[in-house]
Amino acid sequence: MSTSVMANYGRFDLTFARGEGSYLFTADGERYLDLGCGIGVTSLGHAHPHVVAALEGQAKELWHVSNLYHIPPQARLAEQLTAASFADRVLFCNSGAEAMEASLKLARIYQTSRGAPGRYRTITFRNAFHGRTLATIAAGGQAKHLKGFEPAVDAFDQVDLNDLAAARAAVGDETAAILVEPVQGEGGVYPADDAFLQGLRALCDEAGLVLIFDEVQCGVGRTGRLFAHEWAGVTPDVMAVAKALGNGFPIGACLAREEVAAAMVPGSHGTTFGGNPLACAVGNAVLDVVLAEGFLDQVRETGARLTERLTAMAGNKSVYTGVRGRGLMLGLECVVPNMELLGALREQKVLALPADGNVLRMLPPLTIGEAEIDEACDALERACSQVGS
Ligand SMILES: *Cc1c(COP(=O)(O)O)cnc(C)c1O
Repeated sequence: MSTSVMANYGRFDLTFARGEGSYLFTADGERYLDLGCGIGVTSLGHAHPHVVAALEGQAKELWHVSNLYHIPPQARLAEQLTAASFADRVLFCNSGAEAMEASLKLARIYQTSRGAPGRYRTITFRNAFHGRTLATIAAGGQAKHLKGFEPAVDAFDQVDLNDLAAARAAVGDETAAILVEPVQGEGGVYPADDAFLQGLRALCDEAGLVLIFDEVQCGVGRTGRLFAHEWAGVTPDVMAVAKALGNGFPIGACLAREEVAAAMVPGSHGTTFGGNPLACAVGNAVLDVVLAEGFLDQVRETGARLTERLTAMAGNKSVYTGVRGRGLMLGLECVVPNMELLGALREQKVLALPADGNVLRMLPPLTIGEAEIDEACDALERACSQVGS
């Protein structure tokens, strides 16, 4: 442990030297099955050959040029994303929080461009997580993230997830947008109801609001669809994506439909690194894999198999009572403290994640195989018998 690094993280006493597929290896060769993927980042597993080849190939050609110039890998990534989604235009950045900031700024400048500059507030939902910048901690509204960083940016009004009447009641003259994670991640793996998302769409259409989906965690194949909102059959006006888009190479993106995107003009917004050739070459390679025929079908099948086994194992109820989520974004509703179960699982050489509300979260590689799922579940069974009563 280095005392030269700021202490803003609590860390487990584990160090990895190498990763391959679903596994991480310590320097002395101990192998861990990785059901966290960073935090939903290395969704294609570690050192995926197609992604490594794309990175190496681009690294030999050109790492970086400014957005003062045309960037072909960036254009190609934007074309891949728009061809596969509701969006017509993409703005690239380097992280989830930046993709959120761009989305929130876009909602404001769009309202200004249509003659409603007084519309600047955004409705968000309890247990949300949108990042750790000043605006996004205010959007998330969680006391533990705001503590010590007050005053909070005063631009958000928060109501309960899946409470459409409350969202409707929160709309005022100053409301610009509604922001929701189709599946909340950090907040405890809570899926928004399909009918709720459909209701938000209708509400936004009625009131002239921008509907923003934060798919930073649930997007890019995680739920068995390219984007989680596809399950509900609704589309947003704006969407933030990041985590899995670069499989570990930092990249974020704000996607929007044309009418809204048109509010961004030269000089409106910018970032030095956003959309550089190296990041976009990696993003393109990730999408090549995720969009390949049959890949998402496989994710849905694997997700169903894992959910079934986890649900069956909840049987005795003394460790966890149930499983929620979608595809390969799953949360175990723990009875024992989630960190205790996580620790016991770690002793079995399996890594998972906590989430709020005493949840053990699993974001396994989308490429995880049947034998690895069995290995994970067998390890969880042993961990459960260790911590259970
Ligand atoms: C991780 C996350 C973010 C923030 O992304 P960073 O890359 O950490 O800035 C925003 N929204 C959601 C839903 C996330 O899971």
